[in-house]
Amino acid sequence: MLNQPTLVDQFGRTVDYIRLSITDRCDFRCVYCMSEDMAFLQREEVLSLEECSRLVRVFVSLGVSKVRITGGEPLVRKNALWLFEELGKLDGLKELVLTTNGSQLEKKATALKKAGVKRINISIDSLNAERFKKITRTGDLNKVLTGLQASIDEGFEAIKINTVLMRGSNDDEAADLVQFAIDQKIDISFIEEMPLGEVDHTRESSFVSNADTLKLLQDKYSLLPSTESTGGPARYWRVANSHTKIGFISPHSHNFCESCNRVRITCKGELYLCLGQEDRIDLMPLLRDNPDDDAPLIAAILDSMRIKPKGHDFDLRRAEPAVIRFMSYTGG
Ligand code: SAM
Ligand code: SF4
Repeated sequence: MLNQPTLVDQFGRTVDYIRLSITDRCDFRCVYCMSEDMAFLQREEVLSLEECSRLVRVFVSLGVSKVRITGGEPLVRKNALWLFEELGKLDGLKELVLTTNGSQLEKKATALKKAGVKRINISIDSLNAERFKKITRTGDLNKVLTGLQASIDEGFEAIKINTVLMRGSNDDEAADLVQFAIDQKIDISFIEEMPLGEVDHTRESSFVSNADTLKLLQDKYSLLPSTESTGGPARYWRVANSHTKIGFISPHSHNFCESCNRVRITCKGELYLCLGQEDRIDLMPLLRDNPDDDAPLIAAILDSMRIKPKGHDFDLRRAEPAVIRFMSYTGG
């Protein structure tokens, strides 16, 4: 369409990527993400799948070309596949991607591929079943590895492991996880732990910097810097003579905010303009009060670009988490 409005903020950054959390619920309780006894939202407090679909359609009409479905665990939401099928039909949506803990992939990989999902990120923090259980509190490593294999067999454009390293827990597994990724011909990203939500482990002492992980891996592998960028906090390296790319997602050590191209939508329909700040608008009332008219929703989304903050404000030394929101709620 000519003269179609697009999302550009006051710093000239174009927003063409949304991350949508479709549930705050999860079958795991990873120590850095959730407390052991989480209180979850009631059904009516969460966007319906129809509302999720409408919202994405509106964002795509405003120039968004990439959508990541996340959670919580998106694949534990009942009928989640319907949403993927709807989104897969949207003209203008070039990249439909998913972040998952992998527990449901054995059953759902085929249908996701068919719906049009291009790439999948699967969180795996340890290759040791006992440790995996300790970190996720409820997860079964075998099930996740079977789901990963099912996804590899489907031939997605790319599969990436996401790993959060924690000192004294799994920080000795960085090289093993990279070797596993090389053997499987997939990618891997190391995510520095972020101070999101109150959890019952000590973040400051468990924090592992990506600079240290990179140094350790450079001793073992020949790594070639890559200029590839997704407009986010990840920096990539290629492992020589392999199919594998290693990403380092470093919200603390890098200022990635200048090139930020994304916004997040919680499962309650709150549009957060930055992962580490409180600036947001509530889209749910706009959806529910105007079931047949997208105009108020479009106006509010365009207007929200005025309040997208310049950058985040994470500081591990602070006693309080910078943001009380849990990652599972905002969507990782
Ligand atoms: N349940 C799915 C999963 O685990 O992949 C999707 C949601 S999860 C919130 C998305 C990503 O956020 C995961 O890779 C997880 O490791 C990461 N994550 C969760 N809490 C985090 C935190 N406090 N700091 C850094 N990464 C975190
Ligand atoms: Fe669940 Fe993902 Fe959070 Fe782990 S990181 S508790 S799998 S939402």
